[in-house]
Amino acid sequence: MIQISPDNIADRFMRYVQVDTQSDPVSTSHPTTEKQKDLSRLLLKELYGMGITQAETDEFGYVYATIPSNSEKKNIPAICFCAHVDTAPDCSGTDVKPIHHRYYDGNDIVLPDDTTQVISTVNSPYLKNHINSGVITASGLTLLGADDKSGVAAVMEAALFFIQNPAVKHGDIKILFTPDEEVGQGTAKVDMKKLGAQFGYTLDGGEAGSLEDETFSADGAVITINGVITHPGYAKDKLVNALKVAGAVLDALPKNEWSPETTEKMQGFVHPVSVNGIAEKASIQFIVRDFTLAGLAQHHERLKKIAAETVARFPGATMEYKATEQYRNMKEVLDTCPHAVTYAEEAIQRAGLVVKKESIRGGTDGSRFSYIGMPCPNIFTGMQNIHSKLEWIGTKDMAKAAETIVHLAMIWEERS
Ligand SMILES: [Zn+2]
Repeated sequence: MIQISPDNIADRFMRYVQVDTQSDPVSTSHPTTEKQKDLSRLLLKELYGMGITQAETDEFGYVYATIPSNSEKKNIPAICFCAHVDTAPDCSGTDVKPIHHRYYDGNDIVLPDDTTQVISTVNSPYLKNHINSGVITASGLTLLGADDKSGVAAVMEAALFFIQNPAVKHGDIKILFTPDEEVGQGTAKVDMKKLGAQFGYTLDGGEAGSLEDETFSADGAVITINGVITHPGYAKDKLVNALKVAGAVLDALPKNEWSPETTEKMQGFVHPVSVNGIAEKASIQFIVRDFTLAGLAQHHERLKKIAAETVARFPGATMEYKATEQYRNMKEVLDTCPHAVTYAEEAIQRAGLVVKKESIRGGTDGSRFSYIGMPCPNIFTGMQNIHSKLEWIGTKDMAKAAETIVHLAMIWEERS
C-alpha cells in the first residue's frame, strides 16, 4: 500500500505557491521572467536536501534531476515526471496567500481579501468530493497557482517517497521542472539529451483520475488579400479595397458552426485571431484546430474555398493562402507506444481511482515532448478553476497524484 499524506503535500504546495513565478507572453528572454528561477532554486535546494545529488538548474530556469535505478533489471526505460513552475499571465501571481481549509464543511468559501470572490458547490460542483477533507484556495486577490505547482508538489513528494522507501523498486527516474509553459515556451530551451528519458508524464491535469493522451493538432493560416489601389479622387470602377474584401471574407464564415464559440468535445474549428492591413493589401490570421490531420486538411480546404469565392466577387482582387504547422496531436505518437498510456491507467487504478480518459482542446508541453522524442501523456493533480482568483485544489487529490507517480514507476519496473 503506497500512501502519501495530504497534509504533507499541502505544506509543500503552500510553500511553492508563495513564490511569484508568473511568465510573460511579451518577453523574448528565456525564461520570460527571471523570478521563475526563484522557485527553480528552491526546488534544487530541496532536492539536495532529500539526498538527490544528481540535480541541477540552468540559465533558462529548467530543473533536471535523477533518482537512479535501485532495481537489478538493466532494461528499464528512464521515465520522466514533469511539471511547470510558471503561472499564467491572465491573473496576478504576486503575494499569493494560500489558505488551507483543513476540514472543508461544504459551505461557500468566501475569500477574505475580496469577499465578492466566492467558491461554492454551485459554481464548482467538484468541491462536493472534498467535504471533510482539505481544500486550498487563494485569498481573493490572486490566482492560487495550483496550475502547476500542484504538479511540482506531487513530483517532489513522490521523489521524497522513493528516497525514504528504498524497498520500492524503480528504474531511473528523471525529474524535470520547466519554465514558461503558460506562454507556450515550456520546451523552447529544454535539453532532451541531458534529460535522457524515454517516456514522460506531465502532472498538469484536473480532476482526480483524469488522464489525457490526446490534444488538438494545430495549424496557423494566413489569407493575404491584394486590392487595387488608385488615387481615391479618380478611383471610380478601378479601386478595389483590400480591407473591404477582408471584411467580406470574415462575413462569409459560418455563423453557427466551425468556430471556438460553437464547438466542443471532438469538434475542430477555424478561428480568425487578427486582421492587419491598408486599403491596398490586407491579411487575416487564423488558427485552425482538429484532432485529426485529415480534419485539419479539410478545414484548410474549406477556408480556402470560402475565401476564394468571396475574393472572386471583387474583380481585380487576388489572394494567397498560407498554412503553417503549429503543433500535433500527441496521440499519433502515443499510438506507437500504447503501454505508456495503459501503464498510467493502471497506476491511477492502483491509487484507488477511476480512470477518466480525456482529450485536451489545446496543446500541452506533452504534445511537444511527444514529438521531440519523449512520448508524454498528462496526468491529473486535482487543480480546479485555473488561471483565476477562484482557483482551488483538494489536498487528497494532490496526494493521489503523487501516489500515481510512485505506482507508475513501480509498474515500469515490474514490466521491464
Ligand atoms: Zn498547467
